[in-house]
Amino acid sequence: MLNASVQQIKGVGEKLAEDLQMLHIETIEDLLFYFPYRYDVFEVKPISELIHGDKVTIEGTVVYDPSLTFFSRNKSRLMFNVEVEGISIKAVMFNRAFAKKHLNAGDVVTLTGKWDSNRLQITVNTYKKGRYDQDAAIHPIYSIKGDITSNVLKKTIKNALKVYEKEVSELLPASYLQNYKLPVRHEALKTMHFPESRFKLKHARRRFVYEEFLLFQLKMQVYKKMTREAEGGISQVFDKDEVSSFVNTFPFKLTQAQEKVLRHILKDMASPFRMNRLLQGDVGSGKTAVAAISIYATVTAGKQCAFMVPTEILAEQHYLSLMNLFEDRARIVLLTGSVKGKPRKEIETAINAHDVDIVIGTHALIQDNVHFSDLGLVIVDEQHRFGVNQRRTLRDKGMNPDVLFMTATPIPRTLAITAFGDMDVSIIDELPSGRKPVETHWATERQFPRVLSFIEKHVTNGEQAYVVCPLIEESDKLDIQNAVDLHHQMETFFPGNIQVGLLHGRLPTDEKEQMMKDFSANRIQVLVSTTVIEVGVNVPNATIMVIYDAERFGLSQLHQLRGRVGRGNNQSYCILIADPKGEVGKERMRIMTTTTDGFELAEQDLKLRGPGDFFGTKQSGMPEFKVADMVHDYRALETARADASEIIQNNSLETDPNYASLAEEIKRESAFKEKMD
Ligand code: ADP
Ligand code: MG
Repeated sequence: MLNASVQQIKGVGEKLAEDLQMLHIETIEDLLFYFPYRYDVFEVKPISELIHGDKVTIEGTVVYDPSLTFFSRNKSRLMFNVEVEGISIKAVMFNRAFAKKHLNAGDVVTLTGKWDSNRLQITVNTYKKGRYDQDAAIHPIYSIKGDITSNVLKKTIKNALKVYEKEVSELLPASYLQNYKLPVRHEALKTMHFPESRFKLKHARRRFVYEEFLLFQLKMQVYKKMTREAEGGISQVFDKDEVSSFVNTFPFKLTQAQEKVLRHILKDMASPFRMNRLLQGDVGSGKTAVAAISIYATVTAGKQCAFMVPTEILAEQHYLSLMNLFEDRARIVLLTGSVKGKPRKEIETAINAHDVDIVIGTHALIQDNVHFSDLGLVIVDEQHRFGVNQRRTLRDKGMNPDVLFMTATPIPRTLAITAFGDMDVSIIDELPSGRKPVETHWATERQFPRVLSFIEKHVTNGEQAYVVCPLIEESDKLDIQNAVDLHHQMETFFPGNIQVGLLHGRLPTDEKEQMMKDFSANRIQVLVSTTVIEVGVNVPNATIMVIYDAERFGLSQLHQLRGRVGRGNNQSYCILIADPKGEVGKERMRIMTTTTDGFELAEQDLKLRGPGDFFGTKQSGMPEFKVADMVHDYRALETARADASEIIQNNSLETDPNYASLAEEIKRESAFKEKMD
């Protein structure tokens, strides 16, 4: 049985079992599927290209029989010369006296070991008689810790394979193996540990990548379907004419992309299922307009809407702009942490009595004492991963509203379908026409005085500027110091009629808000800030965004910051101040100056920084794959996703015997559901 303890394997006693446990290996199956994290392939290079101190592989002919010397009891040194490219290379091998018998003058050998270019000497780790064979030179590398060694691990896997390989059963229907030309599971498994050739390894890996993605997508979609059916939802009956007449009050025509996502949303809302949709759109693509229309649809359906945003500043901004848009079409309230006492009680009562249609606020507005009378729609803007827990909170209150999650961080498709695989995704992939792209420049620290003059010139013209410096961690004193210093430097530089403000996370909330208000009202012209302004702030008169130490930000983050300007009629500028050391850093600055497409930047960011770093912090809910790599294997991911959809649609897991093993496997990992919560 594969789920038996590793102690069943020959040579595994209590101690080794404990060591294996350090690697989270408890069962035979755990061990068999403990894959190498990479493979070293040693290639033979010309002597002139070998680098001193590197691990290298050479192929040559033994010149004379090796000489063996013993020293300090049972330690030995075997020395011989090999001729490579007509040059005589010294080879040293320690404590392998037995090799003397194997190696004779005239033998061709392949040696791998540490290279000493001064002495033209190799200290041999492994030797093999015969010519260099590319396929034999593939060395699986396992991640190990504790007392266990690679050799012991390999030997244990080998022993386990001998006995249990046959028990590793196929999961995929035969037609898949055929169509995709994938090796069967037990063979692929053996190849992962003991690759006979690069060709075989490539296909074994391809198989497990696909398997991993398919299982993941299937679980996601099964889960999605289950919750969909279990949770039920509301069919919102809204007044189409009313909604159209509302849209007609807008000073612009919706873009085609806006129309498209609106169709998705309204269809979901009308359907009897609960909407669970992610709306993505670059900064300025007009998500708020789409949200407003969706909200209004809910209002005409006689239901209430909760609009959740991450900060009070944003809540206030949305409140003002929605008040503007809706005029007296809806009753709107703002509910944040700073609304307390009697006014709060009154608002809560009004929400409960359905005297209010739209509530805008921070996260708390779906919790605590807030009880909606008839909640139809929840919109979650930015950064809140509105998880299963919150949905449960709502359900416990007897509500099952449609949920729309909005984000301005373009998420590469591959990430979106893994991290947000349980949601439907709509993308606004078009900006309203007539936008002037923000001009982006890259300057070095030395050019800062020129940047200051540039700011002064524009501010004197009545415009405003942000100056952002990185705050990597909220508690990082140094970073706040950076902002404080910068603020001071600017105050000294600018004449008295230019007011410079300072905003950072350590300020009390009311001071932060006051500062933002002062900036919005142009009482402050230059705002020095840590990244607290990143999300959603809208000051159309601001035309300059200076980003200090720009190399410390991800591309997507830089793009977000850049999106704070370019919101008015004047040409806007983004100035990146950075002295990146490496080529990658320079490349990133160049990409920023040439690309204004958020999705393209997101893809580049993902490639440069990897999925773990993409969201800035480790995103919970991001699956970890053993073999698959979301970035490099995105084609397999797309294929697996499409296949999973088809399987679910056809009910194959339940009805088709060819899918029985897959169904079994998915059921088996019931721990999966807990992870989703
Ligand atoms: P987002 O929330 O996606 O960043 P907003 O909804 O705030 O974008 O829109 C940015 C600006 O563009 C707002 O001033 C809004 O009035 C305007 N806008 C939205 N949709 C359109 C459109 N279709 N045509 C022209 N301007 C638009
Ligand atoms: Mg619905």
